[in-house]
Amino acid sequence: MRTALINGKIFCENQTFCQALLVEDHTILKTGSNAEILNEKNDTILDLKGKVVLPAFNDSHMHISMLGEILCDIDLSSCRSIKEIQQTILSFYNTHPNVSLLHGIGWNQDMLLEKRMLEKKDLDQILPHIPMVMERVCTHILTVNQAMIDQTLLPDSFDRRSGIAKENECVPFLKKVHRKSKETVCHHLECVTTHCLSKGITSLQTADMKEDNFEMLFEVYEEFSKQKKIRLCHQFNIEDPQKIDQLLKMKPENPEFHQIGPIKLFMDGSLGARTALLKKPYADDPGTNGIQVISDQKFEEILQYAKDHHLQVITHAIGDQAIQKVLDHYKKFQDTGNPLRWGIVHVQITDKALIDQFRNQNILALIQPIFLEYDLHIVEDRVGKDLASTSYAFYSLPNISLGTDAPVEQIDPMNNLHCALFRQDYAYWPKDGWNIQEALSLKEALTAYTQGSAFVQFKEEQLGKIAPGYLADLVVLDQDIFLNPTLLLNTQVLATMCNGKWVYKKENGL
Ligand SMILES: [Zn+2]
Repeated sequence: MRTALINGKIFCENQTFCQALLVEDHTILKTGSNAEILNEKNDTILDLKGKVVLPAFNDSHMHISMLGEILCDIDLSSCRSIKEIQQTILSFYNTHPNVSLLHGIGWNQDMLLEKRMLEKKDLDQILPHIPMVMERVCTHILTVNQAMIDQTLLPDSFDRRSGIAKENECVPFLKKVHRKSKETVCHHLECVTTHCLSKGITSLQTADMKEDNFEMLFEVYEEFSKQKKIRLCHQFNIEDPQKIDQLLKMKPENPEFHQIGPIKLFMDGSLGARTALLKKPYADDPGTNGIQVISDQKFEEILQYAKDHHLQVITHAIGDQAIQKVLDHYKKFQDTGNPLRWGIVHVQITDKALIDQFRNQNILALIQPIFLEYDLHIVEDRVGKDLASTSYAFYSLPNISLGTDAPVEQIDPMNNLHCALFRQDYAYWPKDGWNIQEALSLKEALTAYTQGSAFVQFKEEQLGKIAPGYLADLVVLDQDIFLNPTLLLNTQVLATMCNGKWVYKKENGL
């Protein structure tokens, strides 16, 4: 089966444009002018009517199960007061009266009228008898009610009065939330896939696998991958070598659609919650400099194991001390040039020396420009103007790939690109962009979002480019973002192709 796409503005290899392309089965056979493509035999012709075509997006770090929960459970991300949170929970309960546990995600005290954390008393006030777990947007902090406390084995440090758990204290509560049936996981996967394809994303690198769920997730994803609608790659948070062995023996049947990727580790928490690990105390809370989540010894043990078994490792690190620690530990174990492609996820608070070290070690930077939408309002308060001015250094970092950490931020590539290009929030503030010297051009950002993300997966030879021999994963847009990038926030996807098949078409779109 051969499909010719003609009359387009197609973003091709080497950041140039071509007019037409020919797809045969699941790969791109040829690119060129209308005449060159129409000269070849074809079965169907699609007239793009001048529309922009890009390689489909590849989100290099997000969380499918949590995004599934936010699409299917209680979404608190638009709440602007405690009262609104209470109403949102109540109205969900009214339409789902049979649930045994209420789970919500997405609240953020900085966005609330009261400017304070959600507390146990707020939840007890509305529904004292149903256990509730309400995660902060960062997912490193959550609030529970008395009914939940009553049925959980509590960690010693947990503050029963406020009902707020941080970092490792969250684990016993989250275990109850994530103890989901296969049906639920599958339902979440369906929701997320439909949502992502409508945004032009055909590859997701997802961090959901843990020691207590990897067998079940593998089975569900393996079954799902037979549909060949979206490409899924696991970043697994498993530290026990025996379990890692066990996982790596489970070979996916369709590796183009289901892949076991790197080990994902955590060095620190989040900036919003002041748990990101800084070298100096927080400028707006001198009592703390954050939290180290994994011990140095444990971290090195895992790196040794990864090196011995030729495994990729990526580590969550946001604060400058966390990034420093990861780089120093990596250095002890990595080979020259970083052939195993070890990476750091987030890489937010940096100074010049740290970026130089990052470049020298040739580490991969899995970044989320969309974080700027919120963080550019708080980062100077958190770490001071000086350190902020060298942070979120996306232009200076090597080996960048783009992601959203959804559902921490929206999975929308257009919003992500807007933040990468303009370093402004969605109200186009600040006018000249925040630390604009670190902005990416549209072509750079697109390349990072496609080829850069494919590189993280060791798939840069098959994925992320519109070029002969590459898999036909494409997206068609309704506006020319190259002519006018300020249109990004209002740009829609008309159609998405994965593996040579149209997997999304907007109504009255193409
Ligand atoms: Zn994440």
